[in-house]
Amino acid sequence: MNMDNRPVILVIDDEPANIEIVTAVLEDEYEICFALSGEQAVQVARESRPDLILLDVVMPGMDGYQLCRIFKADPLLSDIPVIFATALGDDEAELRGLAVGAIDYVTKPIRPAALQRRVRNHVQMKRMRDQLTEQALRDPLTGLANRRMLERRLQAELHRQARDGGLIAVLMLDIDHFKGFNDSYGHPEGDICLKAVSQALAQAIRRSGDLCARYGGEEFACILPGTDLDGALHLAETMRAGVEALAIPHRASQVGQVVTISIGVASGRCDMGSDNAFWLTGADRMLYRSKLAGRNRVSGQVMSADHPLRDASALDGPVVGDVRAG
Ligand code: GH3
Ligand code: MG
Ligand code: MG
Repeated sequence: MNMDNRPVILVIDDEPANIEIVTAVLEDEYEICFALSGEQAVQVARESRPDLILLDVVMPGMDGYQLCRIFKADPLLSDIPVIFATALGDDEAELRGLAVGAIDYVTKPIRPAALQRRVRNHVQMKRMRDQLTEQALRDPLTGLANRRMLERRLQAELHRQARDGGLIAVLMLDIDHFKGFNDSYGHPEGDICLKAVSQALAQAIRRSGDLCARYGGEEFACILPGTDLDGALHLAETMRAGVEALAIPHRASQVGQVVTISIGVASGRCDMGSDNAFWLTGADRMLYRSKLAGRNRVSGQVMSADHPLRDASALDGPVVGDVRAG
């Protein structure tokens, strides 16, 4: 997305001279990268994540229309605006370009001032869209992903891994006696505490595929793709210890002098359950167990396909991991 740097424009044309012309027009304002064929372009687009694509129509091999369809079908690339730049000036060619998903259409020879304007407009709109998407998926207080993003990622991960039965672990985390903390220190202090806890949780995450989210008020959730119960219990214990080590005074806590969290872990093969609820409820049940067992601890279970979704009596079932505070 390149939110801070200069916008990136990908120019795709089989004729190097055309790329030079466009580069000369745009290079003052933008980072330019290019591809000389459709085949090369997909790779370059994935790597450079451009803010806009300028696309030639007539190219040997894959033509611009085909390429545009590929971009629009690719979840990683579909939100990048495509402008066709072509010598084909007829109505039919233009309509076809717009029909395959292009946002705009300019004809060669390029008119520099008009191209600059159009590119600027579309890049500006793309950046506004990126910002809105970012806002919709992030929690403003803590900067963590929000519940919506967590639900989306979990669903995507379960679908992605369902076929090969890959592993997944889901964590539910909850601050102990946080109502008492607010009552005792006030809501603004509670918010500061939430931020500090969020940072400690985020710091414990090591793999790029892991996600840590603020799930609700003082509840957090994590997704750890490809992680078994032992690995997840280990990370959860790191998080628990990390929050305790913040040493935030908590005079209303009944389990210690400082702010602590309880954690529940559900782990297993993705094909056990394709519903988010299956995993979140499994982790929540273990969180409840941690609370009942005295808080400031981690409990976990391996999920199996016949796990009852909403049966509280399952609390009495076998718990594979139960890490006690040290
Ligand atoms: P337990 O150990 O059983 O989790 O006890 P608890 O008091 O943490 O649990 P409970 O769910 O009863 O209370 C959650 C409290 O968290 C309620 C509210 O005071 C506080 N809280 C929820 N969201 C926020 C928030 O955004 N900011 C602040 N400051 N407090 C919040
Ligand atoms: Mg709580
Ligand atoms: Mg709670």
